Amino acid sequence: MQYDASSDTRSLYIHWPFCPYRCHFCPFVAVAGQDHLMADYNKALIQEITNFASECGRKLPLKTIYIGGGTPSSWPDKLLLDTFDTLRDIFDFEQISEITLEVNPGSVTAQQLAVWKKAGITRLSTGVQSLNDKVLAGLSRYQKAQEVREFLGLAQEIFENISVDLIIGLPGVSDQEWRETIAEVVTWPIKHISMYFLSIHENTPLYTRLTRNELTLPAEDPIVDLYYWTVEMFEKHGLMQYEISSFARPGFQSQHNQVYWDRKPYKGFGVGACSFDGTVRYQNMKNIERYIQSCAQGADINVSSERLTTREIHLEKVMLGLRRMQGLDINDVMIDMSQVEKGRFLIKVEEFVAQSLLTRAGSRVYLAKNKFSVENEVAVKLLE
Ligand code: SF4
Repeated sequence: MQYDASSDTRSLYIHWPFCPYRCHFCPFVAVAGQDHLMADYNKALIQEITNFASECGRKLPLKTIYIGGGTPSSWPDKLLLDTFDTLRDIFDFEQISEITLEVNPGSVTAQQLAVWKKAGITRLSTGVQSLNDKVLAGLSRYQKAQEVREFLGLAQEIFENISVDLIIGLPGVSDQEWRETIAEVVTWPIKHISMYFLSIHENTPLYTRLTRNELTLPAEDPIVDLYYWTVEMFEKHGLMQYEISSFARPGFQSQHNQVYWDRKPYKGFGVGACSFDGTVRYQNMKNIERYIQSCAQGADINVSSERLTTREIHLEKVMLGLRRMQGLDINDVMIDMSQVEKGRFLIKVEEFVAQSLLTRAGSRVYLAKNKFSVENEVAVKLLE
């Protein structure tokens, strides 16, 4: 199956897989020590993007671009500018409202920041994760809290829209340390925070260390309490929650992420990149050398395509809706349900409202604010 180039695509994702090191918790398609492949990878990327644009047969009017990784801030200036020249040639940038670049604060210079601005990047998403240098180094992430502070000092001169990523529940970070970190984070010149729970992915060094009992994870209940405390702290400082993991000052919610949550089409480019054309989900191959070779030979780089079943679509809609403060439109979920399924679904909704797990206003349903930790269970049970 091939991405439907006639779909109403307004958003692009571009993957830059190169990193200065490989963090032990990282599940992403990323490589360290392969910088010699950057130029060839960039060429392949431009090839893939150009091929897609010609399949579209028209200049797609873009709304958002997200450059993720890997470590996109390691993208050499010249290669990044070349790629942006191509993007501007083949897509319509007239209505674009957000171009995000993920940043690893360690090695960013003032000159790089100026290049990103010149390229048209509007938003920096900064991987902070923790301010405990020792814990990060123990997880093979060699980034210092001081580098984060210096980066923010430089970046705020040029960029208004800065986001930071944090991980709650990292082994070795005490409650007290986390609270101190948050007390500092809320004073930073940022507009957005993404706070993720640590998740353990198979095939990561963290997973291996845990199975060998070399590390102990913090207990779950205190971390959930700490999460709710953190939500309160963010909101007290004007960073309002709009999704389970996302907080923003007014007007600075991530527009690109909302494309994912609204299940709108987006086209991904690069190694391991995912795409969704409104019906089918696709993924590119994950091996960089094969990706470069395949692009050069004009071979297919897509390795999987999955058309979701009606039930999977319902579950996706419910999960994505319950995660957001704007809630879930039950009419949208029931749109293609049978009468029997609709009846069962509505009974469940009312049961959960009675149990104070959900609240309801007309056709909108919201997860109770103190129940975010059970969001997945609630979503699954709603559709049983
Ligand atoms: S810098 Fe980011 S993408 Fe690279 S290894 Fe670490 S967590 Fe993964």
